[in-house]
Amino acid sequence: MKNIKDYTLEELKEQLKEIGEKPFRAEQIFHWLYIEKVKNFQDMTNLSLSLRGKLIENYTICNFNILKKQESSDGTIKYLFDVLDGNAIETVLMQYHHGKTICVSSQIGCKMGCKFCASTGIPFIRNLTSGEIVEQLLAVEQDIGDRISNIVFMGIGEPLDNYDNVIKAIRIINHPNGINIGARHISVSTSGLVPKIYDLAKENIPCTLSISLHATNNEKRSNMMPVNNVYKIEELIKACKDYIAATNRRISFEYALAKDSNDNLEDAKELIKLLRGMNAHVNLIPINKIENGEYTKSTNDNIIKFRDYLNEHGIVATIRRELGSDIDAACGQLRRKNLGGKK
Ligand code: SF4
Repeated sequence: MKNIKDYTLEELKEQLKEIGEKPFRAEQIFHWLYIEKVKNFQDMTNLSLSLRGKLIENYTICNFNILKKQESSDGTIKYLFDVLDGNAIETVLMQYHHGKTICVSSQIGCKMGCKFCASTGIPFIRNLTSGEIVEQLLAVEQDIGDRISNIVFMGIGEPLDNYDNVIKAIRIINHPNGINIGARHISVSTSGLVPKIYDLAKENIPCTLSISLHATNNEKRSNMMPVNNVYKIEELIKACKDYIAATNRRISFEYALAKDSNDNLEDAKELIKLLRGMNAHVNLIPINKIENGEYTKSTNDNIIKFRDYLNEHGIVATIRRELGSDIDAACGQLRRKNLGGKK
């Protein structure tokens, strides 16, 4: 059966036409799904009984169950959701002074194989549908009884490898009749799928693009991130410059600092050369140690030196606050522990 949360408003209008209904009903259904957050069609009380009957016949409303929930002393909550086909996905809620941010998964497993990531070793199973991406947000809002203000696509999966569904999910989340989170509060992270960065530039969605860079030359980056064997740093940086030129948006570069690997001043110098003149921000991330991982966290001293060196040389850099370090904070860890990396 089709999941009604898989449709953008425009698509839902088309669906309604197909079952002989007026397209404007789509706005009412969106209201029930995303404002009232009802869990079944019977509760959509301003729809006729006959329309409710047709919806029940043709569609489901996917509502996730919480399989496991871990709460950190800093307010971070990590969820493992049952996605109703025997698989499970992770979603993380982080509480910042500027609001509540949710980190969503875009795939079940991931093909990218980044060596520092806890998802590596979890086999790729399938893409999440747009409705399953949206449902992560709704299920968390329901659990905490509060609104989410920001959404980042930085959970399990490479969002741009599930491009169409991620774009559709953003349109539903961003729509004023839907969840209505402003595009500037939506951030999409990629390991560097260059052709998709060009596609994203044409979408007219002013979301923030975030690049998982983590190394400044091809040798180091290919070692950390196999995607770099396909799309080299030079191609990636060119795509980023073209993205900025096309969208006039700043790009955020994620740089996870690993001890004795990419955290010395030579790396900082190379990073400055790569990003000089770009409308960019560098987010320095103290790397999370994962079981059997080959990277360990850089020292606090090195992290601060690295940040200061970038700032002194005209690159805006901040250190990301570590959240949820007492609850398996790295993406994939909760799922890995519970499922043993297999599903
Ligand atoms: S860091 Fe992201 S893209 Fe890389 S393996 Fe992990 S989930 Fe996949």
